Formats: sequence, C-alpha cells, structure tokens
Amino acid sequence: MITVAELWTLLDSLASPLPCERVPLPLADGCILRETIFAPEDQPPFDRSAIDGYLVHTDQPAGLVTLVGTITPGSPAPAASPALGTALRILTGSALPASNTALIMQEDTALASSHQLQLLQPPTTRHIRRRASQARAGDILLSSGKLLNAGTLALLASIGATHPLVTRRARVAHLVTGGELVSPQTLPAQGQIRDSNSTLVAALLRDSNADLIWQQRVGDSRTSTAEAFAGALAASPDILLISGGASVGDHDHTAALLAAQGFTIHCDKVASRPGKPFIAASREGCIAFGLPGNPLSHFVCFHLFVKRILARLAGAEPVALVHAKLAPDSKLRPDERETWWPCVWADEGATRRVLPLPWRDSSDLTVLGETTGLLRVPATAQAGAEVEVLPCKCS
Ligand code: AMP
Ligand code: MG
Repeated sequence: MITVAELWTLLDSLASPLPCERVPLPLADGCILRETIFAPEDQPPFDRSAIDGYLVHTDQPAGLVTLVGTITPGSPAPAASPALGTALRILTGSALPASNTALIMQEDTALASSHQLQLLQPPTTRHIRRRASQARAGDILLSSGKLLNAGTLALLASIGATHPLVTRRARVAHLVTGGELVSPQTLPAQGQIRDSNSTLVAALLRDSNADLIWQQRVGDSRTSTAEAFAGALAASPDILLISGGASVGDHDHTAALLAAQGFTIHCDKVASRPGKPFIAASREGCIAFGLPGNPLSHFVCFHLFVKRILARLAGAEPVALVHAKLAPDSKLRPDERETWWPCVWADEGATRRVLPLPWRDSSDLTVLGETTGLLRVPATAQAGAEVEVLPCKCS
C-alpha cells in the first residue's frame, strides 16, 4: 500500500499550473499572481500632508502668522510654499509644494483672530509623506507567484492594475454516491442518513479558491452512477471528486468507471487512518479522486491530497507541515497506518503545542468544528516526541 508521502510525490508529478488569465480585481482574490507588478509612478506620487494643520515656509519660526487660504485633499498642490509670515490651512492628504515646505499640527497652534494664527512650536518637515518614500517608479511591488489577498489587491487597486494576470481557478466536479443518502433538507427514513459531504466539499473548495462547477448526488446502481459520471466529465473539470464507493464492496463502482473512461489508476488505497480506500487517477487534463464516504475520512483526504493538487494547479506551494510539541496528557492511539489526527493549537507562552481532539471513528463529525490541524501520528509514535501538524483553515 502506498504511503502518504509516496502519494504526495506521485501527485506532485501529475499536476502542473493551469493556464493564466486576466481577471478583474474582485475575482482575483485568493488567486496566484502570474506577472511582476512594477510601480508605474513614484509612491506616493507627490508630497502629501500626514496631518490636519498648517503649511508654512521652512524658514518660518514660531509666532504669529496670517492665514491666506486652504488646500483641501484632492486639489493640486500650490505652486510654491507660502511666503514668510503667512500660512495655508491644510488637511490630511493635501498635496504639498515640492520645496520649502514645513508643517505644524493643528494642536500646536492657537487661532489669534479669524485670519491670524499663533504657531506655538517651530514648524517641521516631520509630517510630510514624501513623494517616492514607499517606492520609486519602476520598483517591483509584487513578484509573480504572490498570493493575492485583501492587502495585495488593495495595492494593485492603488496603482490602477485592475486586471492582474493570475492562474485560472481550478474547475472541480463532485459526484456524491450512496443509496442511503438524502439531502440535508430531507427527514431521513429509517436507515437513511443526510448527505454531509456535498456541503463539506463545497465549503472546502470555496476556502481553497477553486470553482465547484458541477455537483450531483446519485444512488448506488452502476447505471445511474455511470450516467452521472459521464455528466461530471462533460463539464470538463480539472479535478473530479467522487465521494463514496472507493472501496471493494458491491456498490463501489468508482475504480471501474474511471478505468472505463480511460483514466490511469495510480492507487486505490493509501496507508492513512482515516482514509484508507482512496483512489487517485488521471487522464489528459483531469485528475480524479475517489474519496472514502465517511465524513472525517473525507476531511482528512481533502486536506492531505485534494488541497495539495489544488495548490499545484494554482502554481502555489502546498501547505507545509509545522513542527510542534504535544500538549501534556495527550491521548493518542497509534496504528500500523500513519494516523492524521484532528487537533487544535494550544499555545503555551513561546511553545507551540497541539492538543489531539477526541474522535470516535471516521464518521464522527462532531470534532471538526474545533479542528485547526491534522496531527501526524506515525505507526511508531513515542510519547514526548516532536510532532508534525498539517494546518487546516477551518475555524
Ligand atoms: P462508502 O465510502 O460509500 O462505503 O461510505 C462509507 C460510509 O460513509 C458509509 O457509512 C456512508 O453512509 C457514509 N457516507 C457516504 N457518503 C456520505 C455523505 N455524502 N455524507 C455522509 N456520510 C456519507
Ligand atoms: Mg457508499
């Protein structure tokens, strides 16, 4: 049986970054930038005031000055600084003349009359936001490969880069199999259960910046599964996920259907607990995964394998394992398969610790609300050893 680490290596060899496209900023959130972004002009492009107060000549000492006007943010800078003995009212963000400029904060002045002002301190240049103090025209602001998030999108907006070049988002189809499943809105009859994997996968894909382009639930008959399977492939997904039916039971059609559609099956089991029956397959332009139906197995397989492929397709690095110490009194049950144990961070001062959470079996969803990582428990786990954790963004 293939190990988790071996499967990672195999998956890395299957996936290369998807093509690039230009998208408007709101659609670029979570995407990987595929071009270098240069500053088109100095940042900031002109000297600006960082305060509400007054603009005077640099040689102006403290004392009485005459108010001769106002500069508001958004107006062009005056051609020159005010003459000695005079001041201009300025507000935060006001454009300033390029030379002989000093500022004084409103709090350091007192109005002597409607047009006269006492400067209680000598004015300074401290509160000027200098042109090019953040970047010069031509400087690199963002490198290719950067993840676009709120901060980087705002930076792009600030320089008018409204359609960045990014890796196209992965298109994912999700086929959910199981005659026992009913929709979450339905009251299950005796023996039925509600389908929770459709909701789980849709939410995990949203978190992973992938597009769920097709999702359907079918019973266990070979014919209906094959029909739905053809529908999923017709949607041209980059990734096809099939929930349930990954094992060798009478209702487990995934491997046979994949093979019939020309997929190469790379593995049908992985030495992971939970998550053992796990199919990885590929054909030109599509990677398929058969995931075990149990919800916790689903969660683990998604984070271990599907997220990794999504990262590779986006042209990003997969989430890295983090080293940590086990919280005292942690109760772990090692298994001959490597276990990926739901856990939560429990920081104690400078030491990063993880606390394994109690879970009954791979159908146990109750633990997922707390889970912030998957703790890798090797078959030969030893008490007190340093551990590795795969962080999960789910709280
Ligand atoms: P399977 O992998 O199809 O053998 O299913 C394994 C277990 O997971 C069975 O107990 C199923 O009832 C359960 N299961 C399968 N699919 C789902 C689903 N979509 N939502 C919740 N439980 C499921
Ligand atoms: Mg099933």
